[in-house]
Amino acid sequence: MKTYQKALEQIGKIRHSGKILSKTMKMLKAAALPGVSLLELDRLAYKLIKEAGAKPAFLGYRPYGAKMAYPATICASVNNVIVHGVPSKYFLEDGDILKIDLGVNWRGGISDSAVTVPIGRISTKEEELIKATEMALFEGIKAACAGNTLGDIGNAIEKTINKKGFSIVDGLTGHGVGNELHEDPVVYNTGKPKMGMVLEAGMILALEPMTSLGTSSIVQLADDSYATADGSISAHFEHTILIREGEAEILTE
Ligand code: MG
Ligand code: MG
Repeated sequence: MKTYQKALEQIGKIRHSGKILSKTMKMLKAAALPGVSLLELDRLAYKLIKEAGAKPAFLGYRPYGAKMAYPATICASVNNVIVHGVPSKYFLEDGDILKIDLGVNWRGGISDSAVTVPIGRISTKEEELIKATEMALFEGIKAACAGNTLGDIGNAIEKTINKKGFSIVDGLTGHGVGNELHEDPVVYNTGKPKMGMVLEAGMILALEPMTSLGTSSIVQLADDSYATADGSISAHFEHTILIREGEAEILTE
């Protein structure tokens, strides 16, 4: 049987990478204000990661089938854009919903995390979507202990979002992470309890609910980013976690 468990030394590297990531993310969240451009945030992320002696994991990353290598340190996805937004000269405006996604590579240990940041004042509905999506991530993490299954994680995420009447977007998933940015297994944001692969202590996964206020359908834009098909607002949260007996360890918190 194939196992995804990682060696202790590698887990240590990924843990350190996650610490650099969470510190960087904290600074990015604080810097994301009306009038700041996505490129400025990208430059700040690059600088902080370099200063910490690590490398941006997204920069130059080229998944199988992609037209080009990824040109930036962060993904910056605004409003209807869900993920993979390429940082541009766009200046953030009051009322925007910004998703920052970031990967860090420290000596071959890779971590991946994302947050949704409200810029200035946003609507109550949008606030609820953001809150529910973050809650869904933590419900997924609660379900992610050794002996449970990938279906338990997906089910916990799905239930949390459905209860609030929001949508989980189609076709985008979490994944294994650590040695590469994207590894097996695929971690769906939907699922049935007790179904799918059994989780083992030592596995490292990126859980990442991606949601919308409207449709679950997505479209791919010219810069390869994914957006909601009906233009509705989306949210995204992600953590890299280590599966253990009992509660998982969040490596990017
Ligand atoms: Mg990510
Ligand atoms: Mg990811």
